[in-house]
Amino acid sequence: MAKSPEEEHPHKALGWAARDSSGVLSPFPFSRRENGDDDVTIKILYCGVCHSDLHSCKNEWGVSSYPLVPGHEIVGVVTKVGKAVTKFKVDDKVGVGVMVSSCKKCDCCKQDLENYCPQMMLTYNSINHDGTKNYGGYSDMIVVDQHYVLRFPDNMPLDAGAPLLCAGITVYSPMMYYGMTEVGRHLGVAGLGGLGHVAVKIGKAMGLKVTVISTSPKKESEAINSLGADSFLVSTDPAKLKAAMGTMDYIIDTVSAVHPLLPLLSLLKLNGKLITVGLPEKPLELPIFPLVLGRRLVGGSDIGGIKETQEMLDFCAKHNITADIELIKMDQINTAMERLAKSDVRYRFVIDVGNSKL
Ligand SMILES: [Zn+2]
Ligand SMILES: [Zn+2]
Repeated sequence: MAKSPEEEHPHKALGWAARDSSGVLSPFPFSRRENGDDDVTIKILYCGVCHSDLHSCKNEWGVSSYPLVPGHEIVGVVTKVGKAVTKFKVDDKVGVGVMVSSCKKCDCCKQDLENYCPQMMLTYNSINHDGTKNYGGYSDMIVVDQHYVLRFPDNMPLDAGAPLLCAGITVYSPMMYYGMTEVGRHLGVAGLGGLGHVAVKIGKAMGLKVTVISTSPKKESEAINSLGADSFLVSTDPAKLKAAMGTMDYIIDTVSAVHPLLPLLSLLKLNGKLITVGLPEKPLELPIFPLVLGRRLVGGSDIGGIKETQEMLDFCAKHNITADIELIKMDQINTAMERLAKSDVRYRFVIDVGNSKL
């Protein structure tokens, strides 16, 4: 008979898990594997609450396996290192993002693109080769192969820096890959949530002109005054959209609900690029005329490799970029999830795991 989650590994751990598609989280005793030669054991201090956590808890992508401990914006301190570990030592501040393993041999892995490895293992809701399950960061500790652990910059706040491990790299990587970094160019950021608000800050740090494209006019003053956007476009106002047609070089589309692409494509200049990073549950309609007639490009991107994630953290540390967060205790997570479902958060919840009773 298979062992219970609490007994399958040597190290007792405590977390909060969803048990079914109601998505309601509750305390969950489980266990973590022995710290192997290449492993780092991390005491978790903070964990960001990503929209993927909500999708997964409620099984909205149809691939959730319960019990499910979410969390892939993990920041903590190293408490143990294996004898082959060279990257870290005890007491180092570290981060763990969306993935915790990959094959290390394929073309993707060899190009530091472990995020696209066919055998990439997610930090939670993934099943290892030996049948054991990965549990995420809504928990007190985690054991991770050093290769997938990030150095957390000294001057970066641990709580507000945590969301960069998913939200930050998700917008940084496509900007680098698709060349959306030319100083003075005009970047549109569609959707002003966890991803979008970080994209605004990174875009400004890269020297771009940044316009937020959003359905909610009430976000305008905050986008401009507190996040530093240059302008704000209400995507449901046809007159304003028309006036802005053909003015943008790039758009990063962070919207994860089903939405029309035509208004966004119309905003692009000749050769403009629309890069999507949200994951709507249903396919979007792709209008071909504006693509062909404006030689425009639509692309996608999924998080980033470990090397690039470290680069992103260092870039953000240098430019004093963190997420705007609402810090919560673990027992407030269900209310936070309800608010996240209504996009009622400025802009990321982060769980103060280290000071929560699990
Ligand atoms: Zn995420
Ligand atoms: Zn691989």
